[in-house]
Amino acid sequence: MTETSYWHPFAQMSAVKNDTVTIVRGEGRTVWDAEGNSYLDSLAGLWYCNVGLGRTEIADVARQQAIDLAAFQTFDVFTTPNTELFASRIADYLPFPDGKIFFTAGGGSEAVDTAAKLARLYWSVVEQPSKKMIISRTRAYHGMNAYGTSLAGLPANLAGLGPMVESVAQVPWNDAEALRTKITELGADNVAAFFCEPIVGAGGVLHPPQGYLPEIEKICRENNVLLVIDEVVSAFGRGGDWFSSGRYGIQPDMITMAKGLTSGYAPLGAVAIAPRVSDVFWKDGSTAVFRHGYTYSGHAMATAVGNANLDILEKESLVDRVAEYESVMASHLAPLADHPLVDEVRAGVGLLGAVNIDPKVKEANPAVLAKVVREARKRGVITRNLGDVALQVSPAFTITDEELAKLAGTIHESLEVVSHESDF
Ligand code: PLP
Repeated sequence: MTETSYWHPFAQMSAVKNDTVTIVRGEGRTVWDAEGNSYLDSLAGLWYCNVGLGRTEIADVARQQAIDLAAFQTFDVFTTPNTELFASRIADYLPFPDGKIFFTAGGGSEAVDTAAKLARLYWSVVEQPSKKMIISRTRAYHGMNAYGTSLAGLPANLAGLGPMVESVAQVPWNDAEALRTKITELGADNVAAFFCEPIVGAGGVLHPPQGYLPEIEKICRENNVLLVIDEVVSAFGRGGDWFSSGRYGIQPDMITMAKGLTSGYAPLGAVAIAPRVSDVFWKDGSTAVFRHGYTYSGHAMATAVGNANLDILEKESLVDRVAEYESVMASHLAPLADHPLVDEVRAGVGLLGAVNIDPKVKEANPAVLAKVVREARKRGVITRNLGDVALQVSPAFTITDEELAKLAGTIHESLEVVSHESDF
């Protein structure tokens, strides 16, 4: 194979430049490479293709929208019918009333940076400009733009990049009291917002401890700190409900989303903003302006695709299906916890799970996860190395019982092969 010209995200290019896999087609949960090999995709792309691949109803909408009006800028007074419709449909599913929707263009990283800038600006508009600190958590992933990278709780993603965005702080991902202590230490008058994934995604699929999310909501309220919940992974059903904030009974001030918003049929992200924040910009007589946006914010074709994706989720009751299948997936994955290379299986909340490699095994054999991923791919299952500690399992919402059995069986077989390798 000739060396690729394409620089793959997150890849060690010296290792993959002559060893790439070209995917040419997809149908449901299966993709095919250029050589005709088929793979069961246990990831739904990167936790986005919730309705599965090959949905001609979305393709038809995208084609027609491209003919009618591919795009038109939505700055100032301009808008498009699908931009409006999609915003109002998202607002109807939010766990708080009267939400406003700010669309980004590319995805979740832009949604996170939009929310971070808006949080800081909000406090200036309400004349508390000292509130600028943003607190995030260990193991957090909030995308790759300036604020999101600075808020990352995965140290490898920051290495060699500094100086980053100033005035950010971090607390352990699972300790609500640590948030209270950090706010006290920094002074509540200096803290703008707390950013938090409801279920840690890229950091390893970590479920919130019992009562954690309502507790951090309370702490944020008591200290006048905005609560921003990053639902880029979990929204639109992935966490077993339309929004995981709803599932865990909290009402954030902002929710970031992307991925499942369009199931990846077009790139799009959004921030939902509760009235506490939006009112100061929207109320009659306000002169406050959020000087922020992207050329493709509210893109006509992307929002048309978003509406078509939402039609499928609604018509096929796919969010209910996730709620039903979360325990089915958990029961397929659970036996993997008995394998000697594995210390824990995390599943049972939505269709997002992880098979955690025993840290002692990982320490002795740093390449163990990469090897298991490679063996699984040889056997026709795509999975990936998550947060350097676990294998990710996050299939499309249409996954069948049979496919879940194949997936778990293949991971087991791959663990077996790797544990018997001579250099192990
Ligand atoms: N926030 C979370 C929680 C994510 O998991 C991701 C991506 O995986 C992002 C933000 C960034 O989204 P994107 O890659 O679409 O920019």
